[in-house]
Amino acid sequence: MAFEGMTEAQAANEATTLRAKLNKWADEYYTYDSPSVEDAVYDQTYQRLVALETQFPQIVTTDSPTQKVGDHTLPGFTKVPHEIPMLSLGDVFSKEELGDFVNHLTTSDDVPFNYNCELKIDGLAISLKYENGILIQGSTRGNGQIGEDITRNLKTIKSIPRKLTRPINIEVRGECYMPKSSFAALNEERQNNGQAPFANPRNAAAGSLRQLDSRVTARRKLSTFMYNVANYDDLQTDTQSGLLEELKSLGFTINPSYQVAHSMADIDAYVDKYQELRDGLAYGIDGIVIKVNSLPLQRSLAATVKVPRWAIAFKFPPEEVQTVVRDIEWTV
Ligand code: NAD
Repeated sequence: MAFEGMTEAQAANEATTLRAKLNKWADEYYTYDSPSVEDAVYDQTYQRLVALETQFPQIVTTDSPTQKVGDHTLPGFTKVPHEIPMLSLGDVFSKEELGDFVNHLTTSDDVPFNYNCELKIDGLAISLKYENGILIQGSTRGNGQIGEDITRNLKTIKSIPRKLTRPINIEVRGECYMPKSSFAALNEERQNNGQAPFANPRNAAAGSLRQLDSRVTARRKLSTFMYNVANYDDLQTDTQSGLLEELKSLGFTINPSYQVAHSMADIDAYVDKYQELRDGLAYGIDGIVIKVNSLPLQRSLAATVKVPRWAIAFKFPPEEVQTVVRDIEWTV
């Protein structure tokens, strides 16, 4: 995006308007699980703000949506501080941008070409803490620093082990989602009861997990795929793909579709394959996540305030994107 002839004052003015829109939409989406605009509208508006802030770095504010993880916590839940922050992911929307990300890492940081490709599950991030192999706490991502304690609700989900196969202390992260069949049944039931349907499975999963009555969560048939560990002390692997297998051996459910890529062609083929298979999957995916496979390299690449530097999300284009993009009003 070029902003020819735009002054800094005009840029700051537009950025303020974009931030206000994004903050309102984020509140509807994260706090109330009830978005009023399509994700593509949010994403396009966000990209416009990123472009403005990149061209005019002086206008960046610390509370800009580009500088923080978006969720808010609901009153009614005990707050859980995350010792290791739960971050978002940087995203790209074209193969070209994806190639730039990989080339930049591979050439400037001497990263060997080993990436783990994973499906980007359309749910919400959760964190599970185990002491001596026993589940003691489960929480939402919240604002990345502080989440909500939803232990009782998570204990109703069958794919979450209460006891691991080894008595270790570990904090595991992953995605909680609502399978497509549960989502369709839930929305039908809600409509029959005169209630508003959920906009998508992600919002339905978030609304179902953040219930004060865990019997409601139990009825919603949620599931999980775990993909990350917040502390590595007891792990016996040094790769992301090995970590997934180790999580499986501990008793967690992992998504089996991951694949190690040794070239950009491997990554491209993975993206194409799952873009094709997406509709037939039993759960929603909104893209592919590409992660540096070496865990020591992940640690040394570290993260910005918002996203890890060792991973990127390639977002699939939604069907309605053409219409949506045309409908966005940029003028302020
Ligand atoms: P995100 O959903 O784009 O990506 C980060 C998340 O991906 C992680 O936190 C994790 O929960 C998830 N994830 C799924 N599979 C994963 C895997 N295999 N490995 C690692 N992570 C995985 O980022 P976000 O910050 O959670 O949400 C931002 C997005 O939410 C926006 O891009 C937009 O699409 C949507 N949003 C929409 C509205 C709206 O009003 N419609 C408002 C706010 C946000």
